Amino acid sequence: MECCFSMSSFHTLRLILGDQLNAKHSWYKTKDKGVLYALMEVRTETDYAHHHIQKVVGFFTAMRGFSDALKKGDHEVIYFNINDAENKQSFTENIKLLIKSHGIKKFEYQLPDEYRLDQEFLNLTNELEIETKVVDTEHFYTSRNELKAQFEDKKQILMESFYRTMRKKHDVMMLNGKPLSGKWNYDAENRKKLPTGTSVPEPLVFNHDVTEVVDQIKEAGIQTIGTINAKAYAWPVSRKESIELLHYFLEHCLPQFGDFQDAMHQNYWSLFHARLSFSLNAKMISPKEVVDAAINYWETNQDTIHISQIEGFVRQILGWREYMRGIYWWKMPHFKTLNFFENKNPLPDWFWTGETKMACLKSAITQSLEYSYAHHIQRLMVTGNFVLLAGVDPDEVDAWYLGIYIDAIEWVEITNTRGMSQFADGGIIATKPYVSSASYIHKM
Ligand code: FAD
Repeated sequence: MECCFSMSSFHTLRLILGDQLNAKHSWYKTKDKGVLYALMEVRTETDYAHHHIQKVVGFFTAMRGFSDALKKGDHEVIYFNINDAENKQSFTENIKLLIKSHGIKKFEYQLPDEYRLDQEFLNLTNELEIETKVVDTEHFYTSRNELKAQFEDKKQILMESFYRTMRKKHDVMMLNGKPLSGKWNYDAENRKKLPTGTSVPEPLVFNHDVTEVVDQIKEAGIQTIGTINAKAYAWPVSRKESIELLHYFLEHCLPQFGDFQDAMHQNYWSLFHARLSFSLNAKMISPKEVVDAAINYWETNQDTIHISQIEGFVRQILGWREYMRGIYWWKMPHFKTLNFFENKNPLPDWFWTGETKMACLKSAITQSLEYSYAHHIQRLMVTGNFVLLAGVDPDEVDAWYLGIYIDAIEWVEITNTRGMSQFADGGIIATKPYVSSASYIHKM
């Protein structure tokens, strides 16, 4: 723990979680030497699932960078490294320690995106005898309860109506209250197979040397899955890199994003996908800036980029991502217990190794272990399809998805897995179970 502050030099403690790396948050607009910001690498976070090594490295590296940037910006920061002797390995215990040792008068935190942490901080703030305050993360388009308010008295929660409301409310690709081209949705044009010989852009990777953090994770004895090239770590770990990845996507992938959204290819692990989910979910970049930048880029390149490409992309972020968040906050904690088909089978062991003779599964799982990434259709139509047909217990399915992907945070993982992919929610998210036929997978 980097700590060299004298007793009672701080009046306020502000906690920043690993997925709250929003440099644009209004907290940082003013500098107050009496405010102490705290970031913590703790075992309660590393151990609630078997995370992919690249996921733990991604969060730790991004958190460390964020802490350094705050310090450079003249803010006061305390950082708990995973192996620090003073680290009590839980948010609650570390916060109590800081409050006591610094004579803190006020504790502030940002709304967590996970139910588990929301409960932890509600309990903590009830227990604390000092003033406490919770503020918004200033990241999402919607508040936690916005979707509930829209659909509470409706028979069905339809993503398409939510998406249209969002387009209107945020004036995204609209003209005089109507969709820009007269059409809301180009989904039907987002299902092309990849023709042989299509030129697919090389994914932009960042090649960080993360040897030190990998060694520290090993030293701490954290159990992880998957592999990592510690000398050339691929993922963006800062706002600057996230913006770079966004621009790379716009220039190289957006022109064909919509067309090949459903396509799969063994030689290309991300095809025309953005790979922005980690940056978004850690809040290094906001959904609004991604959507605005994408529309801006499309507007100046309309001669080469058809509207179906940009609409397909906007729908994922303005639509699906916010929709999943709304369902999560409406339906948790009950959502986590749902098992509509009463599936009870164990997850096959080869999900953790990729050692199966089934070619599509082998390819999707091996890729996931290697990159901590698979695109939507691999998650939905290959791995998700198999476990649904095999009647695997949704708890085991969730545990796998929550660990393996770099972008897996419960609010967006469980809604996609238990809801969209497994129909364990009995139709809250999807109107029918999502089963992909062999011929569709073959085509794709
Ligand atoms: P792109 O295809 O380029 O899409 C752009 C962005 O749109 C993504 O970065 C993401 O923020 C958003 N988006 C797209 N589809 C969805 C969706 N269905 N729900 C929410 N946001 C979406 N996404 C996660 O962020 N975390 C998860 O843990 C997660 N688990 C999933 C599990 C299953 C079984 C399925 C079917 C999907 C899951 N998704 C999850 C959604 C989606 O697969 C990923 O967001 C996407 O693959 C991330 O890659 P990308 O950034 O290249 O996305």
